[in-house]
Amino acid sequence: TYLVTDACIKCKYMDCVEVCPVDCFYEGENMLVINPNECIDCGVCEPECPAEAILPDTEADQEKWLEINAKFSEEW
Ligand code: SF4
Repeated sequence: TYLVTDACIKCKYMDCVEVCPVDCFYEGENMLVINPNECIDCGVCEPECPAEAILPDTEADQEKWLEINAKFSEEW
């Protein structure tokens, strides 16, 4: 899965949301998040992010960001 990280905070540029083929972006508290259960790992959102906040889980601090992305995408 891909994950949104803290570089997204206050960005919310939304280009990533528009390109996602499965609409798995959700609004978190102060940043967007990706639902890890819905993301199909296509990678098209990554280059669209002007803040470079979207990373494959292998490159992000996985424990931390997986939890945050999962938490906020399930609640909203
Ligand atoms: Fe959506 Fe693909 Fe990005 Fe996953 S990797 S969030 S499916 S655009």
